Amino acid sequence: MKKYIFISGGVCSSLGKGLAATSLANLLESRGLNIQMIKIDPYLNVDAGTMSPYQHGEVYVTDDGAETDLDLGSYARFTRATIRKENSITTGQIYQSVISKEREGRYLGRTVQIIPHITDEIKRRISVVGKRPGIDVTLIEIGGTVGDYESIPYLEAARQMGSDLGPENVLFVHLTLVPEVGGGELKTKPTQHSVKELRELGIQPDMLILRAPRMLPNDMIHKISSFTNVKKDAVIVGYDLTDTIYELPLVYREQRVDDIVIEKLRLHAKEPDLTRWAAMVNILKHPDKTIRIGVVGKYIHLPDSYKSIYEALVHGGIANRVQVDLVKIDSETLENLSKKDLKERLSGLHGILIPGGFGTRGVLGMITAVEYARTSGLPCFGICLGMQIMVIEYARNVLHLANADSTEFKPETTNPVISLLEEQLDVTDMGGTMRLGKSESHILPDTRIHTSYNNEIIFERHRHRYEFNNSYRDPLTEAGLIISGYTPEGELVESVEWSDHRWGVGVQFHPEFKSTPIDPHPLFASFIKASIDHAAKT
Ligand code: GLN
Repeated sequence: MKKYIFISGGVCSSLGKGLAATSLANLLESRGLNIQMIKIDPYLNVDAGTMSPYQHGEVYVTDDGAETDLDLGSYARFTRATIRKENSITTGQIYQSVISKEREGRYLGRTVQIIPHITDEIKRRISVVGKRPGIDVTLIEIGGTVGDYESIPYLEAARQMGSDLGPENVLFVHLTLVPEVGGGELKTKPTQHSVKELRELGIQPDMLILRAPRMLPNDMIHKISSFTNVKKDAVIVGYDLTDTIYELPLVYREQRVDDIVIEKLRLHAKEPDLTRWAAMVNILKHPDKTIRIGVVGKYIHLPDSYKSIYEALVHGGIANRVQVDLVKIDSETLENLSKKDLKERLSGLHGILIPGGFGTRGVLGMITAVEYARTSGLPCFGICLGMQIMVIEYARNVLHLANADSTEFKPETTNPVISLLEEQLDVTDMGGTMRLGKSESHILPDTRIHTSYNNEIIFERHRHRYEFNNSYRDPLTEAGLIISGYTPEGELVESVEWSDHRWGVGVQFHPEFKSTPIDPHPLFASFIKASIDHAAKT
C-alpha cells in the first residue's frame, strides 16, 4: 500500500514548511525508503512562470520544463526524489482541468461543485504521483496557512484521503509557531488555536512540529501534547538553527521523527544512515576559511529571489571546504560610479556572479561589474542573463561595438548581439512559452567548462527567450571570446568564456537547479576554487 504524509501549517506563513517537509523526506530516504514530494500552491496562477521574483521568490524549473514554486528546489536539494510537472499542483491547474472537463460534457449533466469535483481532482493528482512505481511514501506540502479560504478544498481532500485509505496509510503533520514574547517567555496559545482550527476541519494531526527559538522544556511539550491530543513523542521542536538549515534532518533524527512515522505507517525500513549528510554539515560548521562572493543582480532585496543560486554557491564552498559569504549587490547602485568608487565597492570580493533576470533595469550596472571583473582578473560567473551581459560587455569593450545590446533591452539596436529566435518573434502568450527545461549541450575540449564537468556532453535546464546572435560568432571569437558550448547540432550558443583570464564563464542554462549539498555542481565548485586561488594571490 502507498503511504501519504500531509504537511499543513498554522499561525503564520514563512515558518519553513517546505524545509520541514523536505527534512522529513530526507530522513525517510536515509532509512532506505523511496519518496516523492508534492507542493500544493493554493493560488489561481496555473504555474509560477508569470510571477515576479519580487512577489514569490525564485521560479524553480524542472527537467520537464515546469516553472514551479521555489520549495521544489528545496526538495531537490535535500532528497533524491525526481521532480516533474505533476509534483507541483496549483488551484489554477485544478480549476482549469475541471472546467475543461465540464466543457467537454464529461460530468454528464451534473452540477459541478467544489465538493466532490474539485476535491476529487486534487485527490486524483496526488495519487498520480503517489502511485508511481517503487514509491513508498509521498509527502504533500499544503501551501498557505490553516484558516485561509484558499486552502480549504485541499485540507478537505486530505481529510478524505485519510478516511478513504485508513490511519495506517495517511499521516498528518502540522507545523506551528511557539513565539517568544517580552521577557523571553515562550507561548503555546497560538499552537492550541491552530490545532483547534485544523480539528474543526476534521483533521487530527498525528505529529506537530513547533518552530521555536530554542528547544522547549519537557513540561511545555507535555502541555502541548495534552491540549492537542498529539502523543508526547510526536511533538517535535524545530528550533532555530544558527549555522545551516542543512542541519534540520539531524535535529529531527535526534527527536526520532523517522521512527514515529515508520511505526504509524507500518513501514519496513532499515536503520538510518546519515553519515554523508552529517559529514557535509560538519564542513559547513567548521570551514577552513571564508570566501566572499558578490552576487550582482536586480532582485537582490528579497532573499528568496535567487534562492538556488545562493544555495549552489554554498555547495561550491562545501566542495572546497570553505564558507561562502554572499555579498548581495543591487546592480543599479553600480551605475554611474567613478572607476575609483567602483573599485572600492568590488575590491573586497574574491569572485562575482551575475544571475538571471528579465527587463532593462539594472543591466548597465551588471555590464560595469563584468567589465571590472574581466579587466582586473576577478573570477566571474554569468548565468543566463549573466552570460548575455558578458557577451554584450565583450562586444562593447573589446570588439568596440559601442551600441551592442540585447533586443530585449533595445529592440532597435544595430548590433543585436543577443536577440530573439524566429520562433519567438510571434509569441504573445507569456505562460510556458520560453525555452524551458532540460536539454543537451556539447562542450569543447580544453575549456574551463570542460575541465569543470570533465565531460563533453552535458544536460542542463533552460529558462529564457533570447539567444546569442550567430552573426556575431566570428567577430567575437576573433576578438578573443571563446565559445565553449553549443546545442548538439551547433545551432545555438550555450556557453562562453574569457581567454587569458583566471575564470570567466557564462552559461545560457541554469546549473544552480541541479546542485545539492551532497553533490555540489561542478561549475560552482570550480568557480569557488578559482575564487579561493584569486583570494590567495591578492
Ligand atoms: N531575459 C533573458 C532572456 O529571456 C534571460 C532570462 C534569464 O536570465 N532567465 O533570454
